[in-house]
Amino acid sequence: MPTLDQLVASWDGNAVVMRFDAVTGTWIFICLHDNTLGASTGGSRMAVYPSPEDGLVDAMRLSEGMTNKWAAVDLPFGGGKAVLALQRPLSDDERHGLLYRYGDLVESLQGAFRTGEDLGTSSDDMLRVAERTRHVHGFDSDGNKVDPSPFTAHGVLSGMRAAVEVVFGSPSLAGRTVLVEGVGNVGTRLAEKLNQEGASLILADIDAERAQSAARRLQARIVAPDEVAGIRCDIYAPCAIGATVNRMTIPTLACRIIAGSANNQLGESGDAERLSERGIVYVPDFIINAGGAMAFAEIDRDLDSPQELFSAVARIGETTGTILREAIDRSETTLAAAKRRVEATLARARAKSAPAPA
Ligand code: NAD
Repeated sequence: MPTLDQLVASWDGNAVVMRFDAVTGTWIFICLHDNTLGASTGGSRMAVYPSPEDGLVDAMRLSEGMTNKWAAVDLPFGGGKAVLALQRPLSDDERHGLLYRYGDLVESLQGAFRTGEDLGTSSDDMLRVAERTRHVHGFDSDGNKVDPSPFTAHGVLSGMRAAVEVVFGSPSLAGRTVLVEGVGNVGTRLAEKLNQEGASLILADIDAERAQSAARRLQARIVAPDEVAGIRCDIYAPCAIGATVNRMTIPTLACRIIAGSANNQLGESGDAERLSERGIVYVPDFIINAGGAMAFAEIDRDLDSPQELFSAVARIGETTGTILREAIDRSETTLAAAKRRVEATLARARAKSAPAPA
């Protein structure tokens, strides 16, 4: 593994802010990947990492993912992400102290980075950070916390309908078989919506009790997590962990469409070609799972009635349809089509901000 300074020197992002929190032995990495469209904005992840370098690599990758996400849905924010790389689990007091110091660090960046909750941090954690900095999102105009999951699930559903229309000729999900992997915050809501639309559900979760209780409520079939890749279905919705679509699983996949909320679903970018060769339509994760981020962005822009937020998020359906059709027309992967859209949005913004020729 390269050293921290080698990693920073070889990164294509704008800046990395590093802080070692001596009290807790935590490395804090704030990666500012791009600010072409606006201030770098992304969540704060907290986890125990095997080494600080692993934490930095994760922050860099996630930060670039946020650049893609904001540009793909054309919202005025740049890519950024923070990782608080713990060496060991912390006591509550230690955690609270770390969050306050992290808030001071975010404040010192004077708005160049805006953040919110992510894996390993909660909205209560973010309330602590917000005691030290104004640059925290995830709260409405009355200061109440907003859960991103319903918006993320709504975005996934909109993207799924668009994908079904491209593949089967009708956006209806009635009678379609959908395998939802991970019935947590997003997966449960997605499964409920799919059930209401008449889809036939298959659920998988490493938490067997959670899977059973959702399956009972939604008359769904359950499969073991390690059987997911071979299950025949119309749509596979990864809503648990990343990299489940990889060179090992792709040959066994028995679905027509992949459309779910998990981040970084592909093991590597070459998997997009492998899927395309198998005729499986992959809806790029950074497009279809942008609903929560879009809702927070709209709240930042003072739009906060739930109805307005849900209709803003439904734009994911149109974007998905456009990308999938472009990929077909140009005989390219859906990932390539999505990335081209990102580049085009960034190029337009750069051209607008370039000084006029003398
Ligand atoms: P969650 O922690 O609430 O739910 C995840 C579920 O997946 C849990 O029930 C867990 O038991 C299950 N799980 C974990 N590993 C599994 C495995 N190997 N096989 C099957 N099930 C497994 O998380 P969430 O908030 O619902 O988010 C789900 C995914 O979507 C995550 O990858 C997250 O990064 C991504 N995402 C979430 C949001 C959001 O708004 N919450 C936004 C964008 C992306």
